[in-house]
Amino acid sequence: MQDIQAIVDSIYDSMLPRLGEGKVADYIPELAKVDPNQFGIAITTVDGTTYTAGNALVPFSIQSISKVFMLTLALGKAGETVWNRVGREPSGSSFNSIVQLEHEHGIPRNPFVNAGAIVVTDIVLSGHQPREAIGELLRFVRYLADDDTISIDDTVAKSEQATGFRNFALANFMRSFGNLHHPVEYTLGVYFHQCALSMTCAQLSRAGLFLANRGRNPLTGHTVVSDRRARRINALMLTCGHYDGSGDFAYHVGLPGKSGVGGGIMAVAPGNASIAVWSPGLNKVGNSALGSQALELLATKTGWSVFGA
Ligand code: GLU
Repeated sequence: MQDIQAIVDSIYDSMLPRLGEGKVADYIPELAKVDPNQFGIAITTVDGTTYTAGNALVPFSIQSISKVFMLTLALGKAGETVWNRVGREPSGSSFNSIVQLEHEHGIPRNPFVNAGAIVVTDIVLSGHQPREAIGELLRFVRYLADDDTISIDDTVAKSEQATGFRNFALANFMRSFGNLHHPVEYTLGVYFHQCALSMTCAQLSRAGLFLANRGRNPLTGHTVVSDRRARRINALMLTCGHYDGSGDFAYHVGLPGKSGVGGGIMAVAPGNASIAVWSPGLNKVGNSALGSQALELLATKTGWSVFGA
């Protein structure tokens, strides 16, 4: 039996002298205001125990990590037809790239680049008003984490709405190919709010637990998705969850994971635990600098890499 608290504490100690590394995302003005000298880690094991260190109880903007939750909802709603509108291949280009979209006729490479996530949001929006779709996501995340205090930071959503020119371009471009079914401002209204979900590492590690436990949340006993669907979502996170740094993350960490420009990373060690790390400074490809290092240390100390100990 491993002493997870000791592992979490030692990772925190290794990160302390390096606080502030990386560069905080500033293209969303609200995110630029976050103090970079923070690091948090939380691990929830499949028996339901949460271990934390550092700023694990400070809420932060989960940004693209929300794409995992929205994809889960979209698959529940539309099943495999989701894949008629979005691919499952790593993109090898940056998260907000528009280049591939033209060559590939408005079908984004995967659900975790911005264009793909916007299509996924459009799928969840169908049959709803934007407000209802946002409510559905918020209820879903609260249900997953078993925590009704989780909320959306409206200031962050508004900040992104005001400066999200690139996302408007992506959405309009896809609409011109017929791959967006709702008015651009509706779909993006939902997208900006999902990205503005505010969660702590502890909450996020609990919300991801169903993916570590064959689709069933051990905290509540609820089956969220089938075993097969959990496996497939994990596969997508492994191949596409870290922008064009996904190969490098698999090489160094070896766990399915999804990062966000708020500096958070949610990772899944199937059969063992769900992990959340957060530190706002990002590396060159837009993943949390300390978060990536911390997860590499974790994989080394625990032997949890999906590629073998
Ligand atoms: N809301 C951000 C955007 O669309 C999410 C980016 C990210 O976390 O990768 O630009």
